[in-house]
Amino acid sequence: MRAEKLLCSHRATIKEVMVCIEKNGKGTAFIVDDGGRLKGVVTDGDIRRLLIEGYGLNEPIRDYMKKDFVYASIREKAEEIRKKFNYAVRIVPLVNEKMEPVDYGEYNENIHISLAQPQLSGNEYKYLMDAFLSTWISSTGKYLSRFEEGFSAWCGVRYGVATSNGTTALHLALAALGIGAGDEVIVPDMTFAATINAVLYTGAKPVIVDLEEESWCMDPEAVEKAVTERTKALIPVHIYGQPCDMGRLCETAKKHGLYLIEDCAEAHGAMWKGKKAGSYGIISCFSFFGNKVVTTGEGGMCITDDKELYEKMRLLRDHGMSKEKKYYHEVVGFNYRMTNLQAAIGTAQVERIDEILQWRTEVENMYRKAFSGTEKVRMQRDDLKDRKKIAWLVSILVAEDRRDTVLAHLKANGVDARAFFIPLSEMELYRDYAKDCRVSKRISRMGINLPTTWEMDREKIGRIAELVAEAL
Ligand SMILES: *Cc1c(COP(=O)(O)O)cnc(C)c1O
Repeated sequence: MRAEKLLCSHRATIKEVMVCIEKNGKGTAFIVDDGGRLKGVVTDGDIRRLLIEGYGLNEPIRDYMKKDFVYASIREKAEEIRKKFNYAVRIVPLVNEKMEPVDYGEYNENIHISLAQPQLSGNEYKYLMDAFLSTWISSTGKYLSRFEEGFSAWCGVRYGVATSNGTTALHLALAALGIGAGDEVIVPDMTFAATINAVLYTGAKPVIVDLEEESWCMDPEAVEKAVTERTKALIPVHIYGQPCDMGRLCETAKKHGLYLIEDCAEAHGAMWKGKKAGSYGIISCFSFFGNKVVTTGEGGMCITDDKELYEKMRLLRDHGMSKEKKYYHEVVGFNYRMTNLQAAIGTAQVERIDEILQWRTEVENMYRKAFSGTEKVRMQRDDLKDRKKIAWLVSILVAEDRRDTVLAHLKANGVDARAFFIPLSEMELYRDYAKDCRVSKRISRMGINLPTTWEMDREKIGRIAELVAEAL
């Protein structure tokens, strides 16, 4: 633990803290209480001031240190941590969830690698300006149908309904299927909260199930066990680009007469048995948020082969307003529309989607090579039967007790990395809906997402692998 040599007990005297600062060569000490929690940060400048003000060397530091100090959580973005530095703050302690300092950031102007970045160098600007200059900047315009048709066709599905974001896409799908109070919907434990929130919006009860060990996707066995008389649907999430076992999940859905809704927010273009994610569900939902594989800034889409559901979703997306009789409302709808400006960006993204996926895979393969020498790092599997994953954020597992150290070391060196999603079952808000989710809890505590941006190259990835190895 790199922070160790900066640690001083709050019981230490001013002199002892001085000695600690002298020895560690960093000009700074982190003052911790008996439980190891950070209580203060003292610099050599602070000590000088105390002595000038006449305090004795044997007085306890805790009585004289400043109560406000700068620190950062290892969950914060590297970019945010950078903003905390200034002429007086050269070292920022990085704390874990228990407020224990595990590492520190040092001021360094040179490197910063962000986690994700939209890649907009094709026709994005041209189409966006075209839409802008046409003044069709609201939710009508030629790019909307082009984007809906282009993206759904690329997935191998007939109809697309573009939405304001991925969360509204999920809610729209559930609403169109008539899911509501009294129904149960099965979701995986490790996902972004939007998956379960969409279920809760409808009044239905979510049922949270565990993951498969190797794929980190919803476990078909656990799904089968969770089905009750009230179960209406399941929402498999293709997590971090890995497709779920669509064979067994479709079988379960069919056997019990359940709707299968795919959450493809992280898996544009992933495949199961040669068919794209999104082509298995009765409705499948995508997100086009800024860090996703295809982006429109904010945005989402529901795709389906079912004409009736397609029309229902269009109706619900647009306030439930009758197509024949304007301002006559037949159902309680929503305003979940996408703008023509967003669709213009999306249209350009669809033109290049295969190219985008290609470089992402290349980046992931560079990581694979860089980590191939160490058994302490386990990359997300890309060799599972029938599955072809895509590279969203590159995902690795390390020993549970080293995960936070690795994260902190990366951030301390300007590399943005992210801990895996906290399992839904570990949040107060959702806990009561969860079945036994032990695999998910373990995987989540071991997982780290690494940067996957356009600017990644062998050298940067080599540096990241080095930092990970140092921390391990
Ligand atoms: C991003 C994401 C969503 C939600 O998408 P937004 O566009 O941010 O609303 C839903 N599910 C998963 C798994 C996601 O990663």
